[in-house]
Amino acid sequence: MSDQPTSQAAQGPTELGDEAPAPQGAPERLLRPSVPALDALLGRALPVLDDGFVRVVDYMGDDGSIVQAARVSYGAGTKQVHEDRGLIRYLMRHRHTTPLEMCELKLHLRVPMDCWRQWIRHRTASVNEYSTRYSVAIDAAQRTAPGEWRLQAKSNRQGSAGAVDPGLGERLSQAEAALLRQAREVYEERLSHGVAREQARKDLPLSTYTEAYWKVDLHNLLHFLALRMDAHAQQEIRDYARVIGEEVVARWVPHVWEAFLDYRVEATALSRLERLILGAVARGEPERARALADEAGWLGRTSAGKLKAHRERSELEAKLADLGLAAPW
Ligand SMILES: Cc1cc2nc3c(=O)[nH]c(=O)nc-3n(C[C@H](O)[C@H](O)[C@H](O)COP(=O)(O)OP(=O)(O)OC[C@H]3O[C@@H](n4cnc5c(N)ncnc54)[C@H](O)[C@@H]3O)c2cc1C
Repeated sequence: MSDQPTSQAAQGPTELGDEAPAPQGAPERLLRPSVPALDALLGRALPVLDDGFVRVVDYMGDDGSIVQAARVSYGAGTKQVHEDRGLIRYLMRHRHTTPLEMCELKLHLRVPMDCWRQWIRHRTASVNEYSTRYSVAIDAAQRTAPGEWRLQAKSNRQGSAGAVDPGLGERLSQAEAALLRQAREVYEERLSHGVAREQARKDLPLSTYTEAYWKVDLHNLLHFLALRMDAHAQQEIRDYARVIGEEVVARWVPHVWEAFLDYRVEATALSRLERLILGAVARGEPERARALADEAGWLGRTSAGKLKAHRERSELEAKLADLGLAAPW
């Protein structure tokens, strides 16, 4: 597909076009697309964490809007559903992303501030957040149940792995409750003495819930979801991303969601070296695979002869295991 914009009105139906332009002089009649499955969700709070939510406030477009933009056509089109699906899958495979920007989603969110701090890094959305300068801070903080305290991961400095002992979890949750109570009391005491809200708030915990309107186009939403549904993202923001993906996007633009899972979320990317090593393994040439990894410095050993930890090597090992192949070292 060419990157050049085309004017179908001037050129007649394009290769991808499916409808003749309206007769000359006749007003073009456009119907606003609506998605009954998403309309049924409008305004409903989809719960996340202990007291958070995602609410769809409004949306623009549907799967057909993407197809329409990609075909630079008029009207909803008459192609069969499977042809629209095929075009959307083509766009997703080839990262032809601007047609996705024709769809927009507006959400109302309730999110703990630590999670929001990660969320707000996604600069390509329009945001309006609840102001704790103007209004009293929301009297709710995210609480962690005794069984939900996670241990620091050993292999990933930014991640967690496993859970703390249940008895300890009970004590940690009690300490959390006491801390939240005290923080709120201190805050409200400051307000009662007339301290400005903008200053009184400074010791509120990061677990305090905030609310925001968040409007984003589908291209940037998928980028957000790809990063925040990923296993490397923090559990709490993953919970929100999963709800937005599975409950909202899957209903709103089912063909896009299917293609996104197939070509982004569940696809495996291979670097040049990974592809060469994998090729050697698949051809039954383990010596060649080892030589390639060795040349790249992936096979360093300790004085006891054990392979030293190497992040890129272990990432390839995980990809090989996923394909049912043993690492050749
Ligand atoms: C697992 C994980 C760990 C992270 N760890 C850290 C961390 O330790 N410290 C930290 O500070 N951040 C961290 N981040 C945040 C990360 O670096 C990004 O800021 C965040 O994911 C937003 O991504 P983005 O910039 O691609 O998204 P958006 O802001 O939505 O931008 C989307 C795309 O638009 C383009 N774009 C937007 N703004 C610009 C610009 N000014 N210039 C050029 N191109 C632009 C880029 O192509 C970008 O990918 C982490 C994110 C993840 C997912």
